[in-house]
Amino acid sequence: MEKIANYINGVYTPPLSNAYLDNINPAIAEVYSLIPDSDEGDVEVAVQAAQNAFENWSTMSVHKRSNILLKVAQLIEDKLQAFAEAESIDNGKPVWLAKTVDIPRAAANFRHYATAALHLHTETHAMELTALNYTLRQPIGVVGCISPWNLPLYLFTWKIAPALAAGNCVVAKPSEITPNTAFMLAQCCIDAGMPAGVLNIVHGLGPKVGQAIAAHKNIPVISFTGGTQTGATIASIAAPMFKKMSLELGGKNPNIIFADCDFEHALATTVKSSFSNQGEICLCGSRIFVERPIYEKFKQGFVAATKALKVGDPQQDNFMGAIVSEMHYHKILSYIQLATEEGGTILTGGRAIKPEGRCANGYFIEPTIIEGLSYNCRTNMEEIFGPVVTIMPFDTEAEVLQYANATKYGLAATVWTTNLNKAHRVAALLHSGIIWINCWLLRDLRTLFGGMKNSGLGREGGFEALHFFTEEKNVCIKF
Ligand code: NDP
Repeated sequence: MEKIANYINGVYTPPLSNAYLDNINPAIAEVYSLIPDSDEGDVEVAVQAAQNAFENWSTMSVHKRSNILLKVAQLIEDKLQAFAEAESIDNGKPVWLAKTVDIPRAAANFRHYATAALHLHTETHAMELTALNYTLRQPIGVVGCISPWNLPLYLFTWKIAPALAAGNCVVAKPSEITPNTAFMLAQCCIDAGMPAGVLNIVHGLGPKVGQAIAAHKNIPVISFTGGTQTGATIASIAAPMFKKMSLELGGKNPNIIFADCDFEHALATTVKSSFSNQGEICLCGSRIFVERPIYEKFKQGFVAATKALKVGDPQQDNFMGAIVSEMHYHKILSYIQLATEEGGTILTGGRAIKPEGRCANGYFIEPTIIEGLSYNCRTNMEEIFGPVVTIMPFDTEAEVLQYANATKYGLAATVWTTNLNKAHRVAALLHSGIIWINCWLLRDLRTLFGGMKNSGLGREGGFEALHFFTEEKNVCIKF
């Protein structure tokens, strides 16, 4: 059975403990590779390698650094099919989705930040004829990056690329549930001529490897994406050490559909925003609010379109594949059970699926729509992170804003209306860091990304990420 290795100091390295964890293909529920069960000893070696590499990498000309990162982007693209297949086996997502979204975006992340670094500029403030102030933005040192399993390479590179482009060295941990494409990325870095120690990838469990990264005294910056509870644990370790932190956490996103929307467009996009990637995208709209005059028509159209979605073998042409793990599969099913206990009516879905053939033991769940719940019941307050949405009518703008803003989360919101004034007004009043009007998941990598309230701290994306990964210093020169 294939053994995944850590990538430390430029070479593939077994874990010091020589212990391994099972890596399971969720579509067939079988172990298909072994993952290093690394610990703080491996993190320590990785940090030392990163520290040793820092001087060379941080003082290298930005053009040279940029060229290496551009080569990484190209190498990911060259291996698109292999990466997509690996992502699908690890995560359960359909190959077509990994091939059109996850892997192209991973390459785009490297390309975006390789070129953005060339245009990073600093400000100068002249004090009349007295002095000049200028801002120095300098690489900080060793950065810790911890990412989740839902968009494995996409989110891993979204952190690593700006951290490296800004001149830092990185110790990174992908989710142990989906380590495969991070393992493959290491080869791209080697082939691109990235100096040893600049990027180090340590595989293993969150409470062991992730926590060792968060707590390491020589890692002054932590960039984390994952659940809100894990974010709180990391913050409780890193904040007393005064580490710089970026936390991208959970969501429970509202999807607000006004009666004056472009109906067909809203309907088709709502199917995608509800069930893409098995609903395992932090940006999926899981609470659908529809203005009463079109509620019944929308509901019928949405249920019909959802019933038509194909769920099954991720290697085939299915819209949805497998849920990422057995544990998460049971968590989602328990929320469907909770929804019925809370008085919800399942309009479609609600059950596990056992596809015929090789995926008969895999973790598949029907796309599920639930009606009849109160806006503030647990099903509507807690993140399910699966193919489960609720739908309910509303009568006024004020009412739907109250519903939408009622959760502790504030990541993303979607609004459907053709009334421009209403669109601007509602966007300003929603408590979410990302608002999509008449679209969903449309991303310009130059723009800020992140959530309010318990959905996170700080923003990723654009120059904001490069700023985050640099230490700012004001230099005042009197003349
Ligand atoms: P987790 O919080 O469980 O894990 C995220 C990462 O943190 C994993 O690499 C995990 O390792 C690691 N980890 C777990 N415990 C610790 C710890 N004590 N110290 C340090 N690291 C730790 O999230 P999931 O992987 O389950 O991802 C799903 C969550 O991520 C959802 O809540 C989703 O909303 C959120 N998310 C947010 C996004 C955003 O941009 N705001 C984007 C995508 C997802 P391991 O897997 O080995 O346990």
